[in-house]
Amino acid sequence: MNDREASVPVITVDGPGGSGKGTIAMRLADQLGWHFLDSGALYRLVAVAAMDRGIEADDEAALGPMAQNLDVNFGISNDGMVILLDGNYITGRLRSETVSVFASRISAFPRVRAALVQRQRSFRKSPGLVADGRDMGTVIFPDAILKIFLTATAEARAERRYKQLKEKGESVNLTRLFQDIKKRDERDSNRAISPLKPASDAHVIDSTELSINEVLQIIQILLDDSMISH
Ligand code: C5P
Repeated sequence: MNDREASVPVITVDGPGGSGKGTIAMRLADQLGWHFLDSGALYRLVAVAAMDRGIEADDEAALGPMAQNLDVNFGISNDGMVILLDGNYITGRLRSETVSVFASRISAFPRVRAALVQRQRSFRKSPGLVADGRDMGTVIFPDAILKIFLTATAEARAERRYKQLKEKGESVNLTRLFQDIKKRDERDSNRAISPLKPASDAHVIDSTELSINEVLQIIQILLDDSMISH
């Protein structure tokens, strides 16, 4: 990282799936006029690419180099972020439960994680970056000016996910979603490399009983404080 990149401020929003971190991070980036990194989308991209190439979720030797050489392009349309993989529009495929489970499995491999480090750091551009994920504050941007770790009970997260998927017309089962979320939490929290855990200097916010606006208000107060102390 050069001095210019180091001077670009980063806010990290980490936490388990369904904690609301994606929505919160995107809204925050929008309010500040900063760039936004959805790092989970990169793991999901690797999952889609592997599935399309017939690579199994346990084949780390094939997944590492594939992740390193992904032909990806990001763009913005009226409907939000657009992702092209090998020139094909795949944004709509990223959020399915099959891709979620595949992404969670392959993200435990050190070679897959290492392949994505530079790609994630390249999103750090002026005037600032809001990065959402699992290890943004601990591994990718340890020098972030503000680190948020957003949690919510597994029940609340399953219900939120259920609503999201239903709205998209996917047929879903709440009990199954709850079990998948618990399994994913366990895998993400117990993996040897970059486990899901708050950075020692992160602010932990439990969003179970809070609206998106309430969480954003808390973050704004923390941000004002951190701007004063930086
Ligand atoms: O955040 P999202 O649910 O889109 O992430 C999909 C999967 O990618 C997660 O279950 C997690 O295993 C993995 N991931 C990760 N590190 C990140 C972001 C996502 O391991 N920084």
